[in-house]
Amino acid sequence: MEKDIQDKMKTDLNSLSKEETIEWVKGLGIEPYRAGQIRQWLFQKMATSFDEMTNISVTVREKLKEKAFITSIEKVKTLVSEDTTEKYLFRLHDGNLIESVLIPEKDHFTICISSQAGCAMGCTFCHTARQGFKRNLTAGEIIEQVIETQRGMTDPDKLSNIVLMGMGEPLANYDAVITAINNLIDQNTISFSHRKITLSTCGLVPNIIRLGKDSPVNLAVSLNAGDDETRNRIMPINKTYNLKSLISACKEFPLPSRKMITFEYILIKGVNDSPADALKVAKLLRGVRAKINLIPLNPGPDPTMCAPSWDEMVSFQEILAENQYTVIIRKSKGQDILAACGQLSGRELT
Ligand code: SAH
Repeated sequence: MEKDIQDKMKTDLNSLSKEETIEWVKGLGIEPYRAGQIRQWLFQKMATSFDEMTNISVTVREKLKEKAFITSIEKVKTLVSEDTTEKYLFRLHDGNLIESVLIPEKDHFTICISSQAGCAMGCTFCHTARQGFKRNLTAGEIIEQVIETQRGMTDPDKLSNIVLMGMGEPLANYDAVITAINNLIDQNTISFSHRKITLSTCGLVPNIIRLGKDSPVNLAVSLNAGDDETRNRIMPINKTYNLKSLISACKEFPLPSRKMITFEYILIKGVNDSPADALKVAKLLRGVRAKINLIPLNPGPDPTMCAPSWDEMVSFQEILAENQYTVIIRKSKGQDILAACGQLSGRELT
C-alpha cells in the first residue's frame, strides 16, 4: 500500500490536542499516562520515529506504529538573506509547498510560520494571494515548521517567538491553528510562552471574537486603510466584515494590562499614504489599545504599486504620533530572498 493511503487510515498524532491524545491511547487500551510521554517525544524531544520513544515498551510502540504516524514536512530549500534571515521551503506529503521564515533578532530568533498552503483572501498587494488557495494545514504541519526549524539550529532554545504571519489566513483555519497553539504552549512539552506568540489576521471578525475567548496569544490586525472604500479595493475581506465591525471586535478582544493590539499598515504610494489617510486611521483607532506598525510595501504582484518615499512615511508616522499612538516604521527583513511580508509564495525559487 502506498505510504500516503496508509497514512490516511492512521491517526496523525501531532495534530491531536492533549485531551484527544489521552482519549486516543485509552481507545487502544494503552494507559492514559502514555499520552504525556508520546507528546513529550513528539514536541519536546523532536522524535521522527516511534522507535526513538525508548521509555515506551516495544509492544506499545508496535501498536503506535500500526495505528498512527508522525507528521513530517520536508525541507526542500533554504535561502539565506544578506541580513541572515533564512527562508525555508517545505514540501508537504501531498506535494503542496509552504514557506517559513527564521528572523534573527538581537538575542533570539522569531519564526514566521504558515497556516495554509496558499490563501483565499485575495489581498491585491500580496504574493501569497496571487497563487490562490490550495488547502488548510493540519495542526501537525503548523507545529512541524517550528520543530523542523529547531532541529536545524545549534541552540533551539534561542527560538522564542512565533508569528503566524506566513502564508494563509490563520483565522480561516481556526481549529487547526488553535490546536497547534495549544500544543506549542503546553507546559509539559514544548512550552512556548503565549506572550511570545502573535497571530495576524486580515480581519475575520467572528473568529477574532472566538480567539479572544479560546487563546491567550497576541493579536495583530492587517489594517492597511482608514476607510471602507480604500480597504474594499485592496482587501476583499472588507466587503464581508467592514471596518466598523472589525474595530468593534478589536474593542471586545480581551487584553491583559499593558498589552495592545498591533495594527499593521502597509504604506502604498497614492493608495493609502496621504495625511488625510493618517487622520482617518487616528480617528478609527480611537478607544482601541493600539500600537501601529507602518510597513513600506514590499514589491508585490501588482507592478503599479510601490512604497512612498521615506519622508512621506515619516510624515504619516508623525500624524499618528501627534495623535498619541505608539507607531513605528518597520522595514521587513529578507527582501532579497523574497522572504519579507507578503512575499511568500511557496514557489521553488532558484
Ligand atoms: N492573512 C494574515 C496573515 C498573513 S500576514 C494577515 O493578513 O494578517 C502577512 C502580513 O504581510 C500582513 O500584515 C500583510 O498585510 C503583509 N503584507 C502582505 N503583502 C505585503 C507586501 N507586499 N508588502 C508588505 N507587507 C505585506
